[in-house]
Amino acid sequence: MSQRRGLLIILSSPSGAGKSTLAKRLRAWDPEIGFSVSATTRAPRPGEEHGREYFFHGHDEFRDMVAESALLEHAEVFGNFYGTPKAPVVAALESGRDILLDIDWQGGQQVRNSLRAEDVVSIFVLPPSIAELERRLNSRGQDSDEVIAGRMKRSRDEISHWAEYDYVLVNEDIDTAEAEVQAIVTAERLKRIRRPGLTAFVRGLNTEFEERL
Ligand code: GDP
Ligand code: ADP
Ligand code: 5GP
Repeated sequence: MSQRRGLLIILSSPSGAGKSTLAKRLRAWDPEIGFSVSATTRAPRPGEEHGREYFFHGHDEFRDMVAESALLEHAEVFGNFYGTPKAPVVAALESGRDILLDIDWQGGQQVRNSLRAEDVVSIFVLPPSIAELERRLNSRGQDSDEVIAGRMKRSRDEISHWAEYDYVLVNEDIDTAEAEVQAIVTAERLKRIRRPGLTAFVRGLNTEFEERL
């Protein structure tokens, strides 16, 4: 009933606030939600696989993708390039599948500007405190002290864009934050403007009324 276009969900936060964790939980809750695998020039972390967390590319390859307009958006983050491959996003939206983008604020702005507003919902994740943000970056245990210091420095800048997002949540308790993300997605899916099929459904209800007369 009521075929709808897919919803593009943008999730942004300062590094370490819990985006990846929330993204993983959202997809476990609804495996139908696709995840946009970004292209990046950063080196893979231990355990990361090409095509799963990221498509890992050299600078030249990345430049080629930009030149061919193969990326929906791209940005330089922490000295590396990151970008969203365009084709999978367009395919998902057109076939009515929702897709999640874990991207920084620069990417968020570009996506909002290049897609129809009714296709996009954006969520910003704040940490409960800066001390906790630093603790989480350290506890993740995947980045060097130098990389962590760089990410902390950039956090202030990322947080300064919080007001550009449709929804903002504070990731203090992860289960609460997860429930909040689920509530946002559920409500956004039910928005009337995203459900063109409802016109036919209500017409059917009217036909049923008429048949009773
Ligand atoms: P983490 O979020 O701290 O685990 O770090 P990542 O290495 O996964 O991401 C680094 C930065 O790049 C973050 O600010 C992301 O939001 C951003 N980022 C990731 N993917 C994309 C993308 O496709 N486009 C853009 N513009 N930014 C991205
Ligand atoms: P991001 O993707 O935003 O960089 P992650 O999802 O990798 O952040 O989270 C950073 C670290 O903090 C991870 O080790 C994760 O397990 C942990 N974490 C995430 N949310 C919470 C939370 N609510 N409470 C405690 N630790 C958390
Ligand atoms: P990490 O290096 O920790 O995997 O990612 C660092 C940051 O890059 C994260 O904040 C993440 O959201 C951002 N990022 C990852 N992929 C993309 C992307 O495709 N585009 C943009 N703009 N940012 C991205």
